Amino acid sequence: MSIKVSPDKCNGCTLCVKACPQGCIEVKDKLATIEIDSCNFCGSCVSTCRFRAISIEIEKQAKEDLSQYSGVWVYGEQWRGEIAPVVLELITAGRQLADERKSELAVIVLGNNLDKVAQELSEYPVDKVLIYEAPELESYDPERYSRVLSDLCKELKPEIVLAGATTVGRSFLSRVAVQLYTGLTADCTGLAIGEDGLLHQTRPAFGGNIMAEIVCPYTRPQMATVRHKVIPTSPKAKNGHKPEIVRLNVKPKLFGSRSQILEFIEQMENTVNIVDADVIVSGGRGIQDPANFALIEELARALGGAVGASRAAVDAGWIPYSHQVGQTGKTVCPKLYVACGISGAVQHLAGMSSSDTIIAINKDPNAPIFQVADFGIVGDALEIIPMLTKKIAAMRGQS
Ligand SMILES: Cc1cc2nc3c(=O)[nH]c(=O)nc-3n(C[C@H](O)[C@H](O)[C@H](O)COP(=O)(O)OP(=O)(O)OC[C@H]3O[C@@H](n4cnc5c(N)ncnc54)[C@H](O)[C@@H]3O)c2cc1C
Repeated sequence: MSIKVSPDKCNGCTLCVKACPQGCIEVKDKLATIEIDSCNFCGSCVSTCRFRAISIEIEKQAKEDLSQYSGVWVYGEQWRGEIAPVVLELITAGRQLADERKSELAVIVLGNNLDKVAQELSEYPVDKVLIYEAPELESYDPERYSRVLSDLCKELKPEIVLAGATTVGRSFLSRVAVQLYTGLTADCTGLAIGEDGLLHQTRPAFGGNIMAEIVCPYTRPQMATVRHKVIPTSPKAKNGHKPEIVRLNVKPKLFGSRSQILEFIEQMENTVNIVDADVIVSGGRGIQDPANFALIEELARALGGAVGASRAAVDAGWIPYSHQVGQTGKTVCPKLYVACGISGAVQHLAGMSSSDTIIAINKDPNAPIFQVADFGIVGDALEIIPMLTKKIAAMRGQS
C-alpha cells in the first residue's frame, strides 16, 4: 500500500493536516508531506482533500508465487476429545472446494491426547488428518495456537483454511491472518470456488440487509470462519476410505504465552445448548421482568427444548449472553423456534430466520416478527405462555 500527494493538485491548504488522526502530515512549501512510517492508511486525508491531491494505492499483485499453495485445511476444533459439530459441516464444504480445486482436504487438529479425535475424523471423507500434539496444547490458548497454526501454514502452504465461527475460531484465526498478513472473512454463510479459481466467501453485511461476496486475490492462504448450521454435516466416508493420519513435528519454541490458564469453569445449563437444540423458546423485552423468564423455561422444558433470548433481554441482565440469538449472538436453525415478546429486529432475524417453523407471540399485530413467522399469536405472552405450557405438558403426559 502506498500514499501519494500530487504536487500539481495540492495547494497546501492544511485540511489534511487537521484531518489526520495520526498527526503525520505537515505542509512544507505549500505541499502536504506525509510521514509514511506513522501513517496507518486510514484514508481521512484522502476524503478530506477538496482538491483530490492525495491518493492511496493498493498493490494489486501478489508478492509471492501463489501457485506454491494448494489444498484445503479445516481446523478441527475439539475440546477434551469432543469434536465441535461445526467441524463436520466444514468437512462438507472443504470436500467440495478441494474437489473443485482438484486438491486435497486435510483436517488439522491441535491439542493433546488426540488418538480418539484422529480416529473419529478419519471416518469422514478427508484425505489427511494432521495431528499436532503436545501437553502445552491441552487447553486452548489463542497466542500459542495461533503461533503454531501460522508456522504450519508457512511450512505446508495450504491454499484455503477454514474454521468454525465459534468463540475459539473467531479469536484464533484472526490472529493467524494477521501473522500471515493475509485476509480473513469472518462469519461466512456460503463458500464457493469462482470461475477465477478463488474462494468466494459470502457473509451478511449491514445487519443482514445485503450479502457481501469477498475474495482474497493477492495473499495466501484464503481464510474464512463459517457459521455453525449453515452447511449440512458431512456423511461418513464410504467403506474402505482410509485417510492418512500425519503426526506433525512439534516445535516447543512456539509454545510461549503471556497468559496462564488457572481454571476452567463450565457453565451449567438446565436446558439444552441452543445451537444444537431442535426446539428453542426465546424471550425478549416483552417478557418484562427477569422473573418471567421462568415461564419461558417451563415452556422450553415442556417442549424438550432450549431457552433463547433477544439481545434486549440479555443486555437487561435477565439471562446470560450464551442464550442470545442473532447477529451478535448465536445462529440457530431449530425445527421449531418460539419467539415470545420479541419484536423481530433485523439483527435478531439474522440468527433465527432459517428455523424450520417459527411461532411468534406478540401483543403488537404489526411486529416485524410476524413477517417471518409461520404461526402468529397476537396477545399477552405472559398469559399465553402458561396456557401453552399446560396444554403441551398435558398432551405429552408430563405432570
Ligand atoms: C450491531 C447490532 C447487533 C445486534 N445484535 C443483536 C442480536 O444478536 N440479537 C438480538 O436479538 N438483537 C440484536 N440487536 C438489537 C436489535 O436491534 C433489537 O434492539 C433487539 O433485538 C430487540 O429485542 P426485543 O425484540 O426483545 O425488544 P423490543 O424491540 O423492545 O421488542 C419487544 C416486543 O415485545 C412486545 N411485547 C411487549 N410486551 C408484551 C407482552 N406482554 N406480550 C407479548 N409481546 C409483548 C412488543 O410489542 C415488542 O414487539 C443488535 C443491534 C445492533 C445495532
